Parts: sequence; structure tokens; C-alpha cells
Amino acid sequence: MKFSFSKKFQNKSQKKQAQRQHQAAQSDTLAFSDKVSLHQFSCHQCGAATEYLPSSQKLICTSCGHEEVIQPVSHQITETPLEKGFKNLRIKPLSPINNQVLCQNCGASSTWDIDSLSDLCPYCQTPIAKLDTENNRLQIEAIVPFALSKNSAKKSLAKWLKNRWFAPNTLKQMQGHYKQFEGIYLPHWTFDSLTHSDYSGLRGEYYIEYITQTRIVNGRPKTVRTPVTRTRWFRVAGQVRVMFDDILVLASMIIPKIIINRLRPWHLSEAVAYTPEYLAGLKSKYYQLDLQQAFKVAQQSMNTEINRAIRQDIGGDRQQIQHKKTRYQNSTYKLILLPVWYSSFEYRGKRYQTVINGQTGKVSGEYPKSHFKIIGTVILVTLLTTGVFYWWSHYGSGTY
Ligand SMILES: [Zn+2]
Ligand SMILES: [Zn+2]
Repeated sequence: MKFSFSKKFQNKSQKKQAQRQHQAAQSDTLAFSDKVSLHQFSCHQCGAATEYLPSSQKLICTSCGHEEVIQPVSHQITETPLEKGFKNLRIKPLSPINNQVLCQNCGASSTWDIDSLSDLCPYCQTPIAKLDTENNRLQIEAIVPFALSKNSAKKSLAKWLKNRWFAPNTLKQMQGHYKQFEGIYLPHWTFDSLTHSDYSGLRGEYYIEYITQTRIVNGRPKTVRTPVTRTRWFRVAGQVRVMFDDILVLASMIIPKIIINRLRPWHLSEAVAYTPEYLAGLKSKYYQLDLQQAFKVAQQSMNTEINRAIRQDIGGDRQQIQHKKTRYQNSTYKLILLPVWYSSFEYRGKRYQTVINGQTGKVSGEYPKSHFKIIGTVILVTLLTTGVFYWWSHYGSGTY
């Protein structure tokens, strides 16, 4: 499929208005208009805007309903050696982002958020996507297209809220009244690496020691032997190799990491080679966390796994890791966009954010908790525990 760079107008008055806006915009943004290259997704039949239809391989026209199949990209998803990525960053450091966008449909110029890769034109709602290589960014390699439609995402969220025991009932009734409900592709880095770690430490093995003590039993001194568990430590050293595949690091900071990371697992095997058509009608973001920062985050999660492997290698009952040196071999990365439905709602003056995995429907987020329900539960649990204790002390103990 080809992207339409030509201006399409639905009627004459719109065309005139657009021309005026276009001229006005041109005088302001001439320097930019040559530089920013855009994808606009126009219907081949009527020229109106088209949008990506989740769970299909199609773009659908918002005006005439004409559907077009998205042609898969001919190349395979590849992972780039990390060193090459670092080198590219050195040659092409992040330049200030050009966030002036000139809509090819209505001619209006708008200022986007600095990290926006795709959005709708605020004047004519035409989907627009920037070229991902704009502003010296490392290239997006892959994308997991939205599989969940907006309606299905709303259903997932309603079900999730319904199952939040502590959520107030009034909130459960307001289902569907979300302040915001939009699809966003969030950038993530994935890292592969083969790690070799040399370590030294201690292996602890339990043994039983009997302590002889004198106690008073029935008014008389009596010698008793009590077993005590002790640990004998041995010096150990060794090497472990751990292979990592697709360690995922969120690269955007627009939604708290703790909320987004709970949307895992992602089925990355369903990713396709990146093509901007999947962005049509949806928002998407550039990375804010660069490759170097992201690799540090990945190393932290790899470190947890490496420690686990070392402890297993040491064996015994207890382990201490005293020194460790890790080499990362054959490290590669790729930049991937993952689909998230984002919603926020207000409840009693406070804003809550929730997200839905656009691939699996898994929900994560914040919600108000009813104090009444929490206090009620605490009272109930206390009553039950007291009741059980009472029953046990009166009837239960007799059976021993
Ligand atoms: Zn059409
Ligand atoms: Zn427009």
C-alpha cells in the first residue's frame, strides 16, 4: 500500500478553509513543513481518513466503509547488535524534536506532544503518523497490532472493576463513563543476551548439634539433649551462563511503569515487522528512555536471574554470593510498539488511571477503595478469628 501525501477534501468550503489555514500555517512553519515527513492514511476509494481495525489486517474508511488489507512488510523482524545501537546514538545524538505537524488533509498546523509519533489532527480528526526515523530516533522494528477492539477493552475493564471487592458500589454502577478511553502504542525495548558470570562465595550446609542442658522436671534436675540446627560454611567459586531472550523494558514515561508492567505477559511471537498503517487512528509514542538507560534497567532484571542461577550452582542449604563479574555476550536489541487501551476516570474529585493490554485484555490500574468495605472486612475477619479461637480453645483442644 502507498501512503497518500496528497490533500483530499470532502467539499469546497472545507477546501477553502483549509487553504486559508494552510497558508497561515505555512507562514509559521515553513521551516518545519519541509522537514517533517508524515504518513496519512487515505481511502483509495473516496479519499477520506482510514483507521486500523483491531484484530484484522485491515484499514477501514471512516466515511465509505471501504476496507483495505494491510500488506505485510517483506523483511523479517531483526534484532540489532547492542554495540551498533550505541554507536548510532553517538553519531546521531537526540536532537530537539520537531513537534510542529502540518495536516495534509485540512492544511492546519498543530503542535504535538514532544513524544508523539501518531495522533489525530485536532482540527479534522485525520489520523497522522510521523516517520519513525524523524529526529534521529532509532528505528522501530516491530509492532504488536491491537487485537482487542475498544468495546472489548471497555468490557474487560468493567469486568475488572466489578471484581474489585473494595471498589465502592457507586463506582461499579458508573461503568462506561470514562473521562478518556483511547488506544496508545507504547514503545518498549527488548534485549537478548548471553551472560557469563564468574562468582565466588560460600555454601552453607546444615548439621545438627546436640546441646546438653539441665532442666528441672517435676521438681528434680534432669539432663536433656536438645538438637540445634547449625550451618557449616565452605568456600566456593564457579561460573554460570544464562541466556536471556526478549527482556522487556518500557521506554515511555507517560503512564507509571508500575501500572504498565502489570500488563505482562505479552505474546511477542505475535509481533509483526513495523509498518505505520497499524497506527492509523491510534496514538503512539516515541521512546523517552534511550537505549543505554534501558539496557541498565534490563541488566537489573537479568541480575536477579543470574543470582538465582548462581545460588542454584552453589547448592547446599544456604548460599552467599561475595564476588561476581558478568560479561554480556551477543547482546542485541529491538524497539517494539505494544498496544494499550488507556482510560482515566474521576471519582469524588480524584483521577484514577487504568490500562488494558490491547493484545490479551489483561487490566491493571488504580481504583478508589471504599473505607466502609475495608472497615467492614476487618471487623468480619476479627470476628471470625475470635470465633474460631473460642471454638478451638473450648472444643478443639480436647481431641489432642
Ligand atoms: Zn472511503
Ligand atoms: Zn487536519
